Amino acid sequence: MDKSEFGTWSHAAADWSTEYLNNVGEQPVRSQVAPGDIQKQIAASPPEQGEGMQAIFDDFKHIIPNGMTHWQHPRFFAYFPSNAAPAAIVAEQLAGAMSVNGMLWQTSPAATELEISMMDWLRQAVGLPTDFKGVMQDTASTATLCAVLTMRELALDRKGNQEGLFGKPPVRVYASSRTHTSIDKALWVAGLGQDNLVKIDTREDFSLDIDQLKQAIIDDRKAGMLPAGIVICVGGTSMGACDHVHEVCKLAQQEGLYTHVDAAWAGSAMICPEFRYMWEGIELADSIVLNPHKWLGASLECSAHFVRDPAKLINTMAIRPEYLKTYDQQDLTNFSEWSVTLGRRFRALKVWFLLRAYGLEGLRERIRNHVTWSCQLAEQLRANEHFEIVTEPVLSLFTFRLIRKGASDKELDALNLELVARINNDGRIYLTQSVHDGIGVIRFMTGQFDMEEADIKIAYEVISEIGETV
Ligand SMILES: *Cc1c(COP(=O)(O)O)cnc(C)c1O
Repeated sequence: MDKSEFGTWSHAAADWSTEYLNNVGEQPVRSQVAPGDIQKQIAASPPEQGEGMQAIFDDFKHIIPNGMTHWQHPRFFAYFPSNAAPAAIVAEQLAGAMSVNGMLWQTSPAATELEISMMDWLRQAVGLPTDFKGVMQDTASTATLCAVLTMRELALDRKGNQEGLFGKPPVRVYASSRTHTSIDKALWVAGLGQDNLVKIDTREDFSLDIDQLKQAIIDDRKAGMLPAGIVICVGGTSMGACDHVHEVCKLAQQEGLYTHVDAAWAGSAMICPEFRYMWEGIELADSIVLNPHKWLGASLECSAHFVRDPAKLINTMAIRPEYLKTYDQQDLTNFSEWSVTLGRRFRALKVWFLLRAYGLEGLRERIRNHVTWSCQLAEQLRANEHFEIVTEPVLSLFTFRLIRKGASDKELDALNLELVARINNDGRIYLTQSVHDGIGVIRFMTGQFDMEEADIKIAYEVISEIGETV
C-alpha cells in the first residue's frame, strides 16, 4: 500500500468501525463458529507480491467479524468487560500513526510526561494519596509479576537478579485461596515456584484468614524460609472475594513484608467514593494494580500500576546498558525501568482522551448503573423458584444456579453447564460458568460501556426462558 492511499483506507476503517459499533448489538454475542472455520479461509502461505488494499479489506469484512466474540456488545455479561470507549479508539488510531516507543523519556518526552500526568489523574480518581506514583503496564499480570519480583529482590537484599535463586532459602509469598491465577504465574516466572505461593484459607466473608496467615509466616521463618510479601485480593475473579486490606497491610508492616493489591477489576469502581470501603486501608499498601481496560473503557492493554516507593520497583527492574544510557538526564523518568519489557506503547493518550471525553461523572454513572442493574437481576432470579443466588453481588458480579427439587449437586452441576451452553448458543447474551466451593455456578457480571437497562431485562428473559427448557 502506497502512503497516498492511507487516507482512503483509514476513512474506510473509520466508516466500518462506526457501523460495527452501531450494530454490534444485533450480532450473537459469543462467536458461533467451529474450531478451524476461520483458519481454513486464510491463505496457507504469505504472498510473494503485495496485494491491493481492496482485496485485503474485503477479506477482512467477509472472514473476520464472523469469528469474533463481541466484547463491545451491550449484552456481554461474561468474564470481566474489556471496554473500548470510542474516544479511546480514536486516540489509539493517533498513537498508531506516530507509533512511538516510549521506553525512555528522550525516546518520546510527550509519551512519558502524559503517562506521568494520567497516572496522577487516575490516582486522584480512585482516591489514593499523593505518595503513590504510577506506571501503565500492559496487563495486570505484568504488574503483579513486577510486584512479585520486587518482593523477591527485597527479601534477598537485591541479590536475586545477580546471583539467581540456587542455594538460597525459599522465598515465600502469601495470598488467599481466592486470588487470580496471575499470582501463581508470577511466582512461576519469577523462579519462586508454585510451592512457595502459600495459599491461605478464607473466612466466611471470603477474606483471607489473618490468623492463618500470621501462623504461616511464623512457621516459614522457623523453617528457615524467607517470607517476602503478600498479594491482597480486592474483587476476585470468580465471585468478587475481598480481603481486609487494612488488617493485612498492618500485619505486613509488622513483619516487614511487601504488599501488592490485585484490584484489576474492582479498582475501577473506586472512582465512586461510596465503594471505597471495599479497599479500606489501601493507603498502607506498597503496590496496587487496576485495569482501566476493563471497566473504564481504556481498551486493551492499559493497566494502572501504582507504587508507594518507585525506587523499590526500579531497583528491581532497571537495567542500563550503554546504548540505553541518557547522560545528564539522571532524574528523569524512564518507564522501561518500571517494567518487564523494554519497548512500550503510548497508552497514556487514550486515557487522556477518555477521561476528558466522559469526565469522571460520566464514568461513575456507568459503573453505578451497572451495579444497580446487576443487583436488580439478582433480585429477579432470587424471586424465581427455579433459581438460587449462590454468592451475593459484589459490585456488579454475582453467581447463581438453576435448581431442581430432589436433584443432587452433581446433577445440578450438569444442568447448569447445559444451561450456560444453551444460553451462549442462543446468542442474545453471553455469560460463563464458575465453581464456587465445589459447586457449579453461573457467573453474571455487568460492565459493558454501552449497556442499558433494557439489556438486563433481556438477560432475565433469556435466562428464565432457556432455564425452563433444560
Ligand atoms: C482480569 C484480572 C486479572 C488479570 O488481568 P490481565 O490484565 O488480563 O492480566 C488479574 N486479577 C484479577 C482480579 C482480574 O480480574
